[in-house]
Amino acid sequence: MLSMARSSKPPKRQWDVLDVFRAAGRFALDAALPPLCPACRDPIAEPGGLCPACWARLSFIAPPYCERLGIPFAYDPGRGIPSMEAIADPPAYRRARAAVRYDEVARRLVHALKFGDRFDLAPTLGRWMALAGEALLAEAHGLVPVPLHWRRLWARRFNQSAALANAISRASPIPVAHTALARVKATAQQVGLTRAERAVNVQGAFRVPEGSRAAVEGRRLVLVDDVLTTGATIDACARVLLRAGAAQVDVLVFARVVDAPHALI
Ligand SMILES: [Zn+2]
Repeated sequence: MLSMARSSKPPKRQWDVLDVFRAAGRFALDAALPPLCPACRDPIAEPGGLCPACWARLSFIAPPYCERLGIPFAYDPGRGIPSMEAIADPPAYRRARAAVRYDEVARRLVHALKFGDRFDLAPTLGRWMALAGEALLAEAHGLVPVPLHWRRLWARRFNQSAALANAISRASPIPVAHTALARVKATAQQVGLTRAERAVNVQGAFRVPEGSRAAVEGRRLVLVDDVLTTGATIDACARVLLRAGAAQVDVLVFARVVDAPHALI
């Protein structure tokens, strides 16, 4: 590097060298600063956790909940009793479990993982998910992350579902079938769409590639995603896996939207 700097002709890729120095400086600065809570950015004592205030506000989902959808019940209606939603509109998947309710703290954590380059959150969130999905994982052959379309993956460089699946795999240890599902249609963002529009939006968006059929046929699979909202995307994925011969499809997410009226059922 030094000999290059001394030569009469400036090195062609000098900016790369400067970038390395900048990155090293940033790393030294990061190491000197106290770790920050990923949800509120207050300093915390140990890296890899939340500050006490955010921790207290994070709402972990525990039984009693709907056996099918994993929606928490306000009171225990008895073991195996499904929610009204599960009866009225049964999903393609068998069971869904989530670590936490999708509230403000959960939203910030997902956002930090997805867009804030906080890849280091994946192991912690994955551990919580592995606990929430213990019963599902006990029967599973493989984890299937919900794929991004290659264009979105290229833009974001990171599939949060794949990172969470890797983290769950390290905690469980169920292997990740990264190529079991492919996203063949670039869909519009689901945000702001109605339930019916979301279902239409993801129609035909996923398929099992020919070379991945063996990883799906006769297998008990757990779909992994960051957030479960209406379930349109995850339901489309489950349908495609079942059509390709999966023996069973369960769903494990970090956070799920729980409407207040549903929680009171
Ligand atoms: Zn905090």
